[in-house]
Amino acid sequence: MERLKTDILIIGSGGAGLFAALHARSAAPDADITIAVKGLLGKCGCTRMVQGGYNVALAAEDSVERHFMDTIEGGKWLNHQELAWKLVTGAQSCIRELENEIGCFFDRNPDGTVHQKAFAGQTFDRTVHKGDLTGIEIINGVVA
Ligand SMILES: Cc1cc2nc3c(=O)[nH]c(=O)nc-3n(C[C@H](O)[C@H](O)[C@H](O)COP(=O)(O)OP(=O)(O)OC[C@H]3O[C@@H](n4cnc5c(N)ncnc54)[C@H](O)[C@@H]3O)c2cc1C
Repeated sequence: MERLKTDILIIGSGGAGLFAALHARSAAPDADITIAVKGLLGKCGCTRMVQGGYNVALAAEDSVERHFMDTIEGGKWLNHQELAWKLVTGAQSCIRELENEIGCFFDRNPDGTVHQKAFAGQTFDRTVHKGDLTGIEIINGVVA
């Protein structure tokens, strides 16, 4: 058995793991970061399979409160509400990070704004997507 010593160990290389690695790198540039994964890095996990897209309240007529309530209703009120709030509020900065820092390119409207479609029980068209290959766009961007 090979033993490795590392400063930061991340288990899994889906969206969460790869984002954790990127953020760990910027928070601690000199740290030794290791990603342990049971499949191929960037090729396994659910994130790569995402077809629908990424829900985020961006439009002026939409709101994080509405996104939050859709999330809670969708979860039949079983969700951990603090985490659901973190999800809907964090989604706004995360989508900008994906486009502006990581280089993902999501579908646009003719006026250049990000296209958002109806999806998955949301009461507002708020799903950002890249055709139906959104997960591949995100993972390829993060891995690059
Ligand atoms: C077909 C499909 C479509 C989906 N569509 C959407 C959608 O349109 N919109 C949406 O918001 N969500 C969608 N989801 C849900 C979404 O993909 C997940 O919620 C999200 O990707 C989870 O990200 P993650 O990084 O936590 O997990 P994952 O992306 O699943 O990554 C988990 C990682 O952990 C690794 N791992 C697991 N066990 C071990 C272990 N024991 N040791 C080491 N590594 C391990 C895996 O190999 C993988 O690398 C979809 C899911 C599926 C399956």
